Amino acid sequence: MLRTKTGPAPARTMIYLDNHATTRVDPRVIEAMAPCFSEIYGNPASRNHRFGWRAEAAVAKGREQVAALIGASPREIVFTSGATESVNLAIKGVAERASGDKNHIITCETEHKAVLDCCTRLETQGFQVTQLAVDTDGLLDADRVRDAITDNTILISVMYANNEIGVIQPIPEIGRMARQAGLPFFVDAAQAAGKVSIEVERDGIDLLAISAHKIYGPKGAGALYVRRRGGRVELEPQIDGGGHERGLRSGTLNVPGIVGLGLACELCAAEMEAEAERLAGLRDRLFSALTERLAGVSLNGSQKHRSPNNLNVSFEGVDGESLLRGLDDIAVSSGSACTTAEPEPSYVLRAIGVPDKLANASLRFGLGRFNTEQEIDYAVERVVAAVDRLRQLAV
Ligand SMILES: *Cc1c(COP(=O)(O)O)cnc(C)c1O
Repeated sequence: MLRTKTGPAPARTMIYLDNHATTRVDPRVIEAMAPCFSEIYGNPASRNHRFGWRAEAAVAKGREQVAALIGASPREIVFTSGATESVNLAIKGVAERASGDKNHIITCETEHKAVLDCCTRLETQGFQVTQLAVDTDGLLDADRVRDAITDNTILISVMYANNEIGVIQPIPEIGRMARQAGLPFFVDAAQAAGKVSIEVERDGIDLLAISAHKIYGPKGAGALYVRRRGGRVELEPQIDGGGHERGLRSGTLNVPGIVGLGLACELCAAEMEAEAERLAGLRDRLFSALTERLAGVSLNGSQKHRSPNNLNVSFEGVDGESLLRGLDDIAVSSGSACTTAEPEPSYVLRAIGVPDKLANASLRFGLGRFNTEQEIDYAVERVVAAVDRLRQLAV
């Protein structure tokens, strides 16, 4: 490190605008989790002593808090290690219980990899998967779902809010239709839970995946809602062992994680309305400033049916990787996956018809609880400067 006589280099504060990837844990959540490492360290499955009972009480409270966020009953909550595991349990769990030669799953091409890769795995085992297309807004039409149903369909899987473009699918409509068809409806709600209103009854949802680390809780904790009221969904467990979680997910419960997830859910529920308004305000401020100060800025995904914390925009005539390099104190994501030397445009942006060039020149801003208006204004300055510079270099 270089140090001059005038003192240490000024600390560069990074602005975190990547809240779709993960979130900072809320200090209130950390505080609630702390005793689970030191005092409440019993195994909730230990029935013979106070240590176990206290841990079991903490888990029961977490179960109530998670259930309350989505209008479920605590008995319908299965704790997992996160949304990926919940997705695996829901999709493979339903598929492995399918009767006779029923083998058809309906999903959507903009789903998270967890869903798509589960479906691909099942295809190698003889299942048939229909990946429905979305429109240029990123929306899935409920009628298209209905038209895709066959006599062999066993499951409909559609995400609530997209992790790249924030688009909110017409879940209540699809849910109504799934119910009419008598099919279980699974919803990956990792990006929606705690951010937009979810009611499993109103929305006709039978299975729903939640992740703690997307809602200011800890990593490695999540839940799957499994409907029991009015027609229980039968699932084949994916992890065998001591029969925890009604036999659906064996393994000693992650008590600190569950306590953290529970409080994270309660805080989101309590603050959702005001926070959604605040974030949408910041998001709109960001978008207005970018479009006012730069030409060739386009929004990716529906403006109307959108999570309040998501902005995904493309910048004509710039290279996304160079743009990210120019934004070294702003944490955002680009619309290309840099797994190889050649940037591979995001499959979600491709699905909504964004040309590869523009997909590679896109940024995903994921706003969150700890972002301020000053941070947004600073990010605008940085993005405008970086785009202007790259465009000048190009001429
Ligand atoms: C993050 C995310 C997941 C995976 O959640 P983990 O808890 O990290 O396993 C699944 N689906 C969506 C839409 C996500 O955003």
